[in-house]
Amino acid sequence: MSIKKDSVVTFNYSLKDDAGEVIDSSAPGEPLAYLHGHGNLVPGLERELEGKSAGEKLTVKVTPADGYGERSNELIQKVPRRALKGINKITVGMRLHAQTQQGPRAVTVTAVTGDMVTIDGNHPLAGQNLNFDIDLVDVRDATEEELAHGHVHGPGGHH
Ligand code: ZN
Repeated sequence: MSIKKDSVVTFNYSLKDDAGEVIDSSAPGEPLAYLHGHGNLVPGLERELEGKSAGEKLTVKVTPADGYGERSNELIQKVPRRALKGINKITVGMRLHAQTQQGPRAVTVTAVTGDMVTIDGNHPLAGQNLNFDIDLVDVRDATEEELAHGHVHGPGGHH
């Protein structure tokens, strides 16, 4: 069975940057499962997996435009510390949810200067090529319940 819209795909992966450093990977023996064709993966990876079958191994390079986007300076802003309510200790590198000019989003604290905090709303992997090594473990059709929920149930999925 090959991957098409509404397939449930189970796979192991590792993700490297252009220097070959592993940024992320599935845990050993715990492959990830996703519902294909529903925007659950970055677009460039989902497109490359279309038509592939269980047992295949592939290497996929995804450019920022097809991944987490280009970095945008407009997503970097300074806010007063008091704007970040409910957070006792603000440290550089911390990830938090903040109200920004673009609405609520996950941001990274990149600097703390006196009473001002610099927050960066770019995805941590924005502007980077994503180099995936994929090992396709299983491909099956989604159940009606999974389609209704828009995600996978069982091992590697939700519930
Ligand atoms: Zn569900």
